[in-house]
Amino acid sequence: MSLVRYETNDDIAVVTIDSPPVNCLNHGVRSGLIDALDQADMDPSIRAVVLIGSGNAFCAGADISELGLPLSFEEPTFHGTVLGTLDAMSKPVVAAINGVALGGGLELALGCNYRIAAPGTKFGLPEVKLGFMPGGGGTQRLPRAIGLEHALNMVLSGDPVRAEDYAGTELVREIANDDLRTAATKFARNIAADRPLPRLRDLRVEHPHASALLQFARGIVKSNRSALPGAMPIIDAIESAVNKTFDQGMQIELALFTALSESTEAKALCHAFFAERNSEKIDNLPVGTIPRAINTAAVIGAGTMGGGIAMCFADAGIPVKILDVKQEALDRGLAQIKSNYEASLKRGKLSEEQFAQRLNLIQSTLSYQEIGDADIVVEAVFEEISVKEKVFTQLDTMMKAGAILATNTSSLDVNRIASFTKRPQDVIGTHFFSPANIMRLLEVVSGTKTASDVLAGVMKLAKTLRKTTVVAGVCDGFIGNRMLEEYLRQALFLLDEGALPWQIDKVLEKFGMAMGPFRMLDVVGNDVPWAVRKRHYIKHPEKIYSKVADKLCEQGWFGQKTGRGWYRYEPGVRVPQTDPEVARLIEVHSASLGLVRRKISDEEIVGRCIYAMINEGAALLEEGIAKRASDIDVVYLSGYGFPARRGGPMFYADTVGLGNVLRTMRRYARNPYGDVRFWEPVVLLARLAAEGKNFTK
Ligand code: NAD
Repeated sequence: MSLVRYETNDDIAVVTIDSPPVNCLNHGVRSGLIDALDQADMDPSIRAVVLIGSGNAFCAGADISELGLPLSFEEPTFHGTVLGTLDAMSKPVVAAINGVALGGGLELALGCNYRIAAPGTKFGLPEVKLGFMPGGGGTQRLPRAIGLEHALNMVLSGDPVRAEDYAGTELVREIANDDLRTAATKFARNIAADRPLPRLRDLRVEHPHASALLQFARGIVKSNRSALPGAMPIIDAIESAVNKTFDQGMQIELALFTALSESTEAKALCHAFFAERNSEKIDNLPVGTIPRAINTAAVIGAGTMGGGIAMCFADAGIPVKILDVKQEALDRGLAQIKSNYEASLKRGKLSEEQFAQRLNLIQSTLSYQEIGDADIVVEAVFEEISVKEKVFTQLDTMMKAGAILATNTSSLDVNRIASFTKRPQDVIGTHFFSPANIMRLLEVVSGTKTASDVLAGVMKLAKTLRKTTVVAGVCDGFIGNRMLEEYLRQALFLLDEGALPWQIDKVLEKFGMAMGPFRMLDVVGNDVPWAVRKRHYIKHPEKIYSKVADKLCEQGWFGQKTGRGWYRYEPGVRVPQTDPEVARLIEVHSASLGLVRRKISDEEIVGRCIYAMINEGAALLEEGIAKRASDIDVVYLSGYGFPARRGGPMFYADTVGLGNVLRTMRRYARNPYGDVRFWEPVVLLARLAAEGKNFTK
C-alpha cells in the first residue's frame, strides 16, 4: 500500500502523506512523494498541488528506525531528490500543515512554495538535541523565512515554535481557521496562476548586524560547557545562508551535517535518545498483559522521599494520601510540600489554581484503614528491614486485593520485602531519586515473583509521572547505586595513594560529570554511604575498602548538612571550599597505611573511576540485573549526571574500545596498593573484548 495518497479536486492535486503515526519520511514516503509530485506536474489539468499529512501530524521528520541504515541513504533521497523535485516543480505546491512539522518535516514544508497551518501547529528543528543539525536545507531556508535572529534561536535551541507566532511570515502565510484541507485547496486555487513561483531559496537573508549576531551566538556556545556538538556547525551553516549563494549554503550544510554525523559526540547523543526510548520497553511481557490500573495512590512515610513521591502523584493529577506514624512527621512533611509548591508559585511555574489543585490532591492520615482502597501504595519509611517488615505486614492486611505494593528502598532485598506479605506477586520496587519530584530517573525493581501486570502497570504509571524508567532485577544497590559503589571505592583508594578530593572532583567534572564524587557525597550526606559500607563490611568481608571516608565520618563531617564534609561550607552557603584539615586527615591516613603519596595523573583518575563503573555494569548485564547495556546508560545519564555527550558509561566503553578498557584494567591491577581482584574483568567484558564486540550494539 502506498504511503502517499494522490487525489484530485478539479484542478488541484491533493497529495496526502499517510504513514501513521506521524508521517515520517521513510523510504516508502519519499518514493510516494516523488511519484505524486511527478504525476501532478505532468497532468495538464492540474494547476496547483496541496501537500498535507494524514492524522495529527504533517510530518515529524526522518524515520528514526531507518537511521544509520543503508535504506535512509537510498534513492529517492530526501536532501537531493525530494527537495530537488519540489524545487523543479512548474506548479505551486502548498504545504497544508497540521499538528507538527519537525526536522525533515519542516524542511519538507520549507521546500514548498507556500505554507498554511492549522491553529496550534508546532514547527521545529530539534536535531541539535539529538547531537545533530538539520541536513535538509533547514539552516538555509529557515533564515530566509523568518530572519536570522529567529532562525538562530529556533535551530540552536531545538525547541518548537507555534504557528500563530509566525503567522504572516514566509513560514506561515495563513492560519486556516476552517478545515485545513478545504482551506488549503481554496488557497491553492487562488494562487495557482501566480508567477514567478515563490521559493525561499530565491530570497536573501537580510540583517543589519548579521556578523555581530553570529559572533555573539558563537561566544555563547563557546562559553557553555554543556553546549551540544551541533551548535557550532549550525552557526557556521546559518552564516553561509547570509554570505553565500543558496546552492553553496546547501553544500556547506551537507558537509557540516555529514562530518557531525560521524562524530562520537553526535553518536553518543543519538544513542542516549534511543536508549531512553528503549528503556521503557519490558522484555518478554506475556502477550495480552493488561497493565493494572492506577488511579489513586498512597505513600507511607512523610519524610524526604515520601513527600517528593506524593508530589509526583499530585503533579500528574493522581489523588494521594500520605501516612506516617506521627502527626508531627505528617505536619512537617506537608509543610515541606506546601513550601515547595509555594516556591513554584513564586517562580511562576504554577498558577494559583494549579497550586490549590495540587494541594487538594494530597491528603494525610495516621490510619491504614483510610488508604486501603488505593490502587498503589509506595512505602518510603526508614531504610531498615525490620521497619519495612512492620509496614508490609500491615499493608498485606489492610490494602484491597489487587493493590500494588511498592517499596522505595534503595538497597534492601525487594524479594525479602515481598516475602513479608501473602501476595508477593503484587510487590515491586520503585526506586525514586532525590528530590523525587524533580529527578527524572525511576528504577523499577522487578522481584522474582512480581506479576507481569504489576510491572506493566508501574511502567505505565511512570510514563504518567513523566519519569525516565529503567527496569532492574533485585540486587544490592540495583543498577545505579551498585555501580556507584565501585566508582566511589576507586575514588577513595585514589585519596589514599596521593590524590585530594578537589583534584578528583575537578578531573571528573572536566570529563563531564555534573558533580565530582566528593561534592556529590557532601550533598547526599556522607553518613548515608557510611551506613551502606558498614553493612557491606559484614556482608562482603572479602572486599577491600579504603577506610578514609570512615575517618571523615567519625569526625561528624557529613557534608553540607553539618557545614563540613570533604569540603567546608559557610553557614547557608552551598559553595564548597577546600579544607586543609581534610587534606591533613587524608595524608595522616595514607601515612598510617605506610603509603608514600604520589602524584596521580588526570588520566588515571578518570580511568580508575569510570572503568570501575563499567566493569560493574558488565557484571549487572551478565547477571541479568540490567537487561540492556543502554538501560545502564539511561540510569547514569538521567540519575547520576554522566555527560550526555559521552552516551553513558557503557557507550563510553565502546568508544574507548573494550580491548583498550581491558588492557588498562590489567595495568591498574599491577598497582601494589588497593584491591588487585578489583580489576578482574567480568567474563562478559573479557569475552566481548576478545570477540572485538561492543556493549551497546
Ligand atoms: P526519612 O527519614 O526522611 O523519612 C522516613 C519517614 O518514614 C519519616 O517521616 C518517618 O516518620 C516515617 N516512618 C518511619 N517508620 C514508619 C512506619 N512504621 N510507618 C509509617 N511511617 C514511618 O527517609 P527518606 O530519606 O525519605 O528515605 C525513605 C526511603 O527511601 C528509604 O528506604 C531510603 O533508603 C529510600 N531512598 C532515599 C533516598 C534519599 O536520597 N533520601 C533516595 C532513594 C531512596
